[in-house]
Amino acid sequence: MFNTSSANRYDVLIFGSGCAGLSLALKLADSMRVGVLSKFALTEGSTFYAQGGISAVLHEKDSLASHIEDTLIAGAGLSNPEIVELTVSMGKESIQWLRKQGVKFTEETDQHGKQQLHLHREGGHSFRRIVHTADATGKAVSTSLIESAKKHKNIDLMENHNVIDLITTDKLGLDEQRACGAYVLENLTGKIKSMAAKVIVLATGGANKVYLYSTNPHISTGDGIALAWRAGCRVANMEFMQFHPTCLHHPHARSFLISEAIRGEGGKLILPNGQPFMQNYDHRLELAPRDIVARAIDSEIKKHGVDFVYLDISHKSGRFIRRHFPTIYKQCKQLDIDITRQPIPVVPAAHYTCGGVYTDNYARTDITALYAIGEVACTGLHGANRMASNSLLECLVFAERANQHIRHVIDSLPPPPELPQWDDSRVSLSDEEVVIAHNWDELRRFMWDYVGIVRSDKRLKRAMHRLELLKEEIAEYYGSYRITSDLLELRNLVIVAELIIRCAQLRKESRGLHYTKDYPDPDDSRTPQNSILSPAEIKLQSRE
Ligand SMILES: Cc1cc2nc3c(=O)[nH]c(=O)nc-3n(C[C@H](O)[C@H](O)[C@H](O)COP(=O)(O)OP(=O)(O)OC[C@H]3O[C@@H](n4cnc5c(N)ncnc54)[C@H](O)[C@@H]3O)c2cc1C
Repeated sequence: MFNTSSANRYDVLIFGSGCAGLSLALKLADSMRVGVLSKFALTEGSTFYAQGGISAVLHEKDSLASHIEDTLIAGAGLSNPEIVELTVSMGKESIQWLRKQGVKFTEETDQHGKQQLHLHREGGHSFRRIVHTADATGKAVSTSLIESAKKHKNIDLMENHNVIDLITTDKLGLDEQRACGAYVLENLTGKIKSMAAKVIVLATGGANKVYLYSTNPHISTGDGIALAWRAGCRVANMEFMQFHPTCLHHPHARSFLISEAIRGEGGKLILPNGQPFMQNYDHRLELAPRDIVARAIDSEIKKHGVDFVYLDISHKSGRFIRRHFPTIYKQCKQLDIDITRQPIPVVPAAHYTCGGVYTDNYARTDITALYAIGEVACTGLHGANRMASNSLLECLVFAERANQHIRHVIDSLPPPPELPQWDDSRVSLSDEEVVIAHNWDELRRFMWDYVGIVRSDKRLKRAMHRLELLKEEIAEYYGSYRITSDLLELRNLVIVAELIIRCAQLRKESRGLHYTKDYPDPDDSRTPQNSILSPAEIKLQSRE
């Protein structure tokens, strides 16, 4: 049966209410009707939790060339120089645009009494170039963009709307392949509706919840990557998952970051028996780069069969700790950990997805009228490793690039066709929800153990084997039972896990964030290549 009510028809439908999605919505809405969907609350995305800030060349001594060079070095030979230059050169205007939306960044008074933006410096950056709002930049960005979007008459914000699958014209029996809508689950009612638009934009964030430990909020289940893959888009560089070395290990606070600044102030990493271990890994000890510290912790955890290690700052005075780390102090205190006296239990945690849906310099995917922006996309900016604070910049720049392209093509695109309604006549209510919870845990644990910070051919093979079994079980479950949000996420996570394993298996070297014991060095005998996967090719391989 075909029926798409006018309420569910838009010029542009954007999936995601983070920095990327809302920036694009606000840019387009003067002349288009825009619908923005978020899986849960509008604020629930990585954007809200970003702490550090946004990189941009603003200091008089800084230069675009320096920001470009730093980004290319971090990318370890896989960043696309054209994309890096494009992104960095749009830094200043992106910050100005955010200020116009009402974002209040931290300011300081210069020596001539003039107010200017205060800039931080972070790892990998040669200059102070991080614009921030104290240590809660993401919250300031998220709340300002949501407020502006709420006031706009051409923007419909829809919370608790979970995109199930994209609809493309070829699936409706029309000749050409174009994105034209999606099936969407209303989480609160369980109803499934068809939503149509001339243009569809994925802004669904990263996939870091594929691992047992993650700094990300619950929504980061790689939905956009899985949606695009199922629809036929290429996905690239999924092996480059960034792990933050120190996330609080506590059953009630899985996603709380313990800032690098604690190590900067002399915090020591120790085993449960009190032994320090960084001296066995790097002469810079706790101040070695993030990936080295994460690898060292991971190795100690595996060697000693423990669940976590400790980070100890208790040698500093209580006054110093409370003044310099008020948020961490308070958060730990609430969990009965007094960091002025006790060490903090920490584990590394998945933090950022460098790979994603393969896009061009206007955020276009392989499918006409389907764009991908923000962490869901692989633009070529980050290459094999993301430099701190370049990700929010990427959200802003590619929202602008998509804006430019959508404006250019919108009038030439036909109105979306009538869409079929979701058919759930052959499925029943599940009486075995426990299967989903169990498979969620199993997937995230074997991804952590076998496809985490240190990989090997054997571990990847083992993970793929387990994945095959899960895939079968989940496909069967999906075909038999009524859809829930947990089931949708699990179905997407399984795809994301497979893409990470496949990309990791393609890379016979260690480079950037991908480290394998079997090939511990970069392969410098040839030009570094992106790991690009195409759904059509993988299907063919599976049939062989
Ligand atoms: C703790 C933390 C600190 C960070 N600090 C920094 C920093 O200082 N600087 C920096 O540059 N970067 C930082 N990052 C990374 C940065 O925050 C993210 O890369 C960026 O915010 C991603 O924005 P986004 O708009 O792409 O996605 P998100 O902000 O993650 O938003 C994703 C949106 O998609 C929606 N969505 C997902 N799936 C579906 C679905 N199936 N249906 C409907 N909607 C869906 C979600 O509901 C959400 O609205 C940090 C990340 C974390 C977790």
